[in-house]
Amino acid sequence: MDTMTITMNGKEYVARQGPTILEVARANGIFIPSLCHHQKTQNIGACRVCVVEVEGARSLVASCCMPVSPGMVIKTNTQRVVEAQRMVVELLWASGDHNCLTCDQNGNCELQDLIYRLKIDQPRFEIEPPGYDLDKTGVMISRDPNKCVLCGRCIVACNHVVVNEVLSFVHRGSHMQVACDYDLPMGTSTCVQCGECAQICPVGAITDKKAHGGGRPWELEKINTTCPYCGVGCQVTVHVNREENRIVQVTGREIPPNDGMLCVKGRYGYEFPSSPNRLTQPMIKKNGKHVPVSWDEALDYTAARIREIVDRDGPDVFSAFGSGRVPNETNYAIMKFTRAVVKSNNVDHCART
Ligand code: SF4
Ligand code: SF4
Ligand code: SF4
Repeated sequence: MDTMTITMNGKEYVARQGPTILEVARANGIFIPSLCHHQKTQNIGACRVCVVEVEGARSLVASCCMPVSPGMVIKTNTQRVVEAQRMVVELLWASGDHNCLTCDQNGNCELQDLIYRLKIDQPRFEIEPPGYDLDKTGVMISRDPNKCVLCGRCIVACNHVVVNEVLSFVHRGSHMQVACDYDLPMGTSTCVQCGECAQICPVGAITDKKAHGGGRPWELEKINTTCPYCGVGCQVTVHVNREENRIVQVTGREIPPNDGMLCVKGRYGYEFPSSPNRLTQPMIKKNGKHVPVSWDEALDYTAARIREIVDRDGPDVFSAFGSGRVPNETNYAIMKFTRAVVKSNNVDHCART
């Protein structure tokens, strides 16, 4: 592997050939702000917040687009750099309509964090809200173009991560916007509501509708677990409102096997644990009506009926159906019971249909 020595803020670092200044800085715990860079969408170079000084360069350079080279001397924290970063963030602030009081991304917003971290009290430019219409036509996703910082993350994610090819930039200059299918409302476009764009958007421009009003990020308990829907085993974080005892959002974890991606079921089908319609105890049909019974009664009844039917008609009349919603061990027990105890090979699973 080709390595090199570079200098950052007066200290020498060993770096590999290939990574950008931003990547090397972050790998070594040096903060460089950025809004468009994300490990999944890589080097978009759209927001220009990540500018740094490189010795010999005529102007500041975007650190997300400049690979390190041997002997490079970089400064990430000079007054010139910080002033330029502040200027970019102030321009982004002033060109949008940002009211954190009402925004669902409050507390989980990279623009808000940067404004705080760069110690900006007010943008020095006049705030000119663009006045775009909100797009609430998506079943699961809400779009507020007034909060968009045009970082392009959602576009790269939609086109190159989940490859649904819905989002793109439309119009030019100060009228530039992100649009679905070149300018359709999300609900009538080819968007499949996978939610990848909502998860990767650094601000409140694309958000999960069902999470709105469910609780501020710091109020929600976050539990890492495995999606219960199918055998892929996607890793998720479940955001729980303990006061209301319900899940208000599910996000994908950026680790294997899903790298943050989720299908629409895993991301948005999460009401069932607190649904009032959920069965929480066994039931047996008596006189045409389902009535709650104890586990002992249910198990004795089921065992007796299976024995009665199999004794009378043979094991082939018995079949068992496993579930993607239960652990492997339970599915194994269902298979073992069907084959070894009942002696039927009629065993299947919902994930195979
Ligand atoms: S997008 Fe961020 S900065 Fe803008 S209103 Fe929402 S929380 Fe505030
Ligand atoms: S929800 Fe998925 S398909 Fe729809 S725009 Fe976002 S990333 Fe693309
Ligand atoms: S909608 Fe979000 S992710 Fe997409 S360009 Fe705007 S700020 Fe970036």
